[in-house]
Amino acid sequence: MSKDCIFCKIIKGEIPCNKIYEDKEFLAFLDIKPINKGHALVVPKLHCKNLFDFPKSEETDLIEFIKKVAKAIVKATNADGFNLGMNNGRAAGQIVEHAHFHIIPRFSNDGFKHWPGKEYAEGEMEEIQKKIVSFL
Ligand code: AMP
Ligand code: ZN
Repeated sequence: MSKDCIFCKIIKGEIPCNKIYEDKEFLAFLDIKPINKGHALVVPKLHCKNLFDFPKSEETDLIEFIKKVAKAIVKATNADGFNLGMNNGRAAGQIVEHAHFHIIPRFSNDGFKHWPGKEYAEGEMEEIQKKIVSFL
């Protein structure tokens, strides 16, 4: 638990939330500013900052938890699909520094577009590929 963390406060019940589901390790609740209605957040109950910080012991359970909640959201909202997302770091849009996963119901006519794809210059793709591989 982190004293000033808003999601830790929600987990402790100090701040209310619209809870969907919880177990020993995780809590799912509705995002207060949904991208589409039914947009939910899944948070580990143990405070950690981002995916790199996320405890290995909880990784398998997390996927099961997300699948269970996502299925319920898709059924309840009659969605055509859903996005599972996670912002890691300020540059990636992370505002709350308690690791969390966004489950966003999607509809064929919701008007959102895919992210635009950039172009690689000649040889650049191989260069970045080699560089990434060198860090593994
Ligand atoms: P991120 O940009 O990935 O850090 O997302 C943080 C998310 O938390 C945003 O989508 C907010 O709308 C959501 N959020 C912040 N405070 C609350 C709250 N008290 N209850 C529910 N969702 C919240
Ligand atoms: Zn926290």
